[in-house]
Amino acid sequence: MALAKLTLHPLDKYLRTDRLPHIWCPGCGIGIALGAMLRAIDRRINEGRLDRNKVVFVTGIGCSARVSFYVDFDSAHTLHGRALPFATGVKLANPSLEVIVVGGDGDVAGIGGNHLLHAAKRNIDLFVVMITNFVYAMTGGQLAPTTPLKVYTTTTPHGNPEPPLNVIKLVASLNANYVARASITTPHYIEMFTYKALGMKGFRFLEVISTCPEVYGRHIGLRNPVTMFEELKKRVKYKPNPVIDESDIDWEKGIVIGEYVVRNNPSYLDLVKRG
Ligand code: SF4
Repeated sequence: MALAKLTLHPLDKYLRTDRLPHIWCPGCGIGIALGAMLRAIDRRINEGRLDRNKVVFVTGIGCSARVSFYVDFDSAHTLHGRALPFATGVKLANPSLEVIVVGGDGDVAGIGGNHLLHAAKRNIDLFVVMITNFVYAMTGGQLAPTTPLKVYTTTTPHGNPEPPLNVIKLVASLNANYVARASITTPHYIEMFTYKALGMKGFRFLEVISTCPEVYGRHIGLRNPVTMFEELKKRVKYKPNPVIDESDIDWEKGIVIGEYVVRNNPSYLDLVKRG
């Protein structure tokens, strides 16, 4: 019993530990992102600002979407790209719930891209965490909307001829109340931004730049998890009030993290209630 107490991790209370070990590869950043999110949730619960029984995780398909398997909250693992419409239904059915959507860039901005546009336009009360690894990882390394120009993927064997989608800029151009970016090399910002987003209304979007040494790392010559982490860390720069034009991801010039949009527009639920 004493040993069990000693070995219990403080975040185990939020995990379905019977589902462990998880499927994520050594060096994958998703676990770091999840840990930081859970610390922010834990703070809000301990402060009495969040009811554990009212937190719901909704995910689509992909490596990041496996989060809903492991968290010990009510959760739903839905179809590829369809987490947002599912989460919208959950929120509308019971507006007292704090609904959190987690997914990869392919899931949220590729297959689910149209849903992302409309959820942000509506400013519906959801918190979305998009974990960007620049590729469809679980399905074998295909081109994602965020894949940088010229990068080899299994569907662009001669290099990606398309410029990447800047999802921060896209969501910021709509009606979202909160748009921020962090990196798994800066987990304190993931925690800080999650904590803040959970205290806000409307559509809140956090992009987390992650490492995927197993698939994307192979494509760009960073197969070693430590090297990939170190290379990402070198490029990430925090800015207190970044302007939207600084949000383009450029592996050479750097990746700016910070809070791009913080506003208090009426949320979808506010407008529906007002009639
Ligand atoms: S394939 Fe990439 S994103 Fe998926 S678990 Fe492995 S390292 Fe993580």
